[in-house]
Amino acid sequence: MMPTILSSILLLTAVGLILTLISRYLSMKKQYERLDSAAEKQSHPTDSLFDTNGFAQRLAQLIQIPTVSWTNRSKRDLKVFSQFQEKLITLYPRVHATLKREVHGNFGLVYHWKGKNPNRQPVLFLAHYDVVPAEEKGDETWKEPPFSGRIKQGYLWGRGTLDIKSQLAFQMETAEILLTQGWQPDRDIYFAFGGDEEIAGTEGAQNMASIFKKRGLSFEFVVDEGGVIARDQLAFLKGQPAALVGLAEKGMVTFKITATGESGHSSMPGRDGTAIGRLARGIVRLEKKSFPSRLDPVMKNMLERFVPHVSVALGVIFANLWLFSPLIRFIFSKNKTTDSLIRTTQAVTVFHSGEQENILPGEATCLINHRILPGNTIGQLQKQHRQILKDKALTIEDAGNWPANDPIKAGDPKESGFQLIQKILASTHPGTIAVPFLVNGSTDSKYYRDLTDQILRFTPLVLKPADIATIHGVNEKVSLNNLENGLKFYLQLFSQL
Ligand SMILES: [Zn+2]
Repeated sequence: MMPTILSSILLLTAVGLILTLISRYLSMKKQYERLDSAAEKQSHPTDSLFDTNGFAQRLAQLIQIPTVSWTNRSKRDLKVFSQFQEKLITLYPRVHATLKREVHGNFGLVYHWKGKNPNRQPVLFLAHYDVVPAEEKGDETWKEPPFSGRIKQGYLWGRGTLDIKSQLAFQMETAEILLTQGWQPDRDIYFAFGGDEEIAGTEGAQNMASIFKKRGLSFEFVVDEGGVIARDQLAFLKGQPAALVGLAEKGMVTFKITATGESGHSSMPGRDGTAIGRLARGIVRLEKKSFPSRLDPVMKNMLERFVPHVSVALGVIFANLWLFSPLIRFIFSKNKTTDSLIRTTQAVTVFHSGEQENILPGEATCLINHRILPGNTIGQLQKQHRQILKDKALTIEDAGNWPANDPIKAGDPKESGFQLIQKILASTHPGTIAVPFLVNGSTDSKYYRDLTDQILRFTPLVLKPADIATIHGVNEKVSLNNLENGLKFYLQLFSQL
């Protein structure tokens, strides 16, 4: 008798669970399908106001100016940065006749476009015009010289075409086109372009943000780089593009850990080993312990928004993350890219010690770089490291080369900025699924975090994994098709602000 009752209860529980999973799936599918189709209905037709080739040629001229940011700042050629700023004046005459332009220091460039309605909150567009070096290493070679700005077989080649002079050019080109039409924005638009994002942005963005703060400015939203329209990056989407709109960004800190020891002649070492050994033992302890995985709310919402676009089996899983989160985290942890989205990462990137083989080193230091998942803090990490190191003689401090920051408060996809991007993509990039995303790098927008509730880290470029690999690598190039559709996106965006 008992086993029958038990199995009946088990059966009922199983049926109940299956029904819950399926009903959550069906209601989520309906909810996001409704949002998708609402976006499509509201879209405006795109005017063909521009010529793609002319745009590509102007961007090519910006690519040809080698505004390279070197970590060793003294290697920078300041002349090219002012040359770039001057070039914008010749390429975009109406912008420069109408907008108020300010140059802050060597790298900060601010434009203010006055709107008709002073009561509306302004919006801010960011981009940076410095690029990383384009040196060739080993068998990595450029098929076209990196600063040639060559246009060939449907592509514009060169360092900065994807990261991220294209974004700056979209914004300037759109303003120039709309000014030609006699158009004026309804609200104030600001542009802030930095020339040192690749080496922390302290002279460009940080400076401009503090000037905005002093002036009491705040923005309804801020648009910066960070996410793109990813194609073939998520196998389960079977080629359907996904616009990854960065609503959250990981924090960053680099710790310097130091071990000291007695220096002297290597023929008489202490029995405990040298500073190098002591530090190495500490590093081994840290590396054995990775940070726990977690599905951040932004990542959860991203997966839920995929529900109408994936197979039923996967849809049931994405719609029921309350149950399947451990499974998703297990799968994500198998790949270093997805793994970085579910935990705070640590990487020992620099180790320094020792001068000569017959001298005992008095000190050993290492740098350990962290990208911090929302929910963790710098203080927490430092405390945790102290416990794991188990060695009071090892000191740990902020390395201080780059400004450290806790993760930035995430934006809400229900707010105006994300909604606007979703709506416009439905018209300029039909078939694209817009989803919130967690950016695992660090962008200039972090300096503006106190000036807005909505930071939208997004560039309207459709990129495949092979394209992404060229960013900071060799053969960076952008397709003319991407330039055309990206410009359509920006024209719609500005028109609807
Ligand atoms: Zn960039």
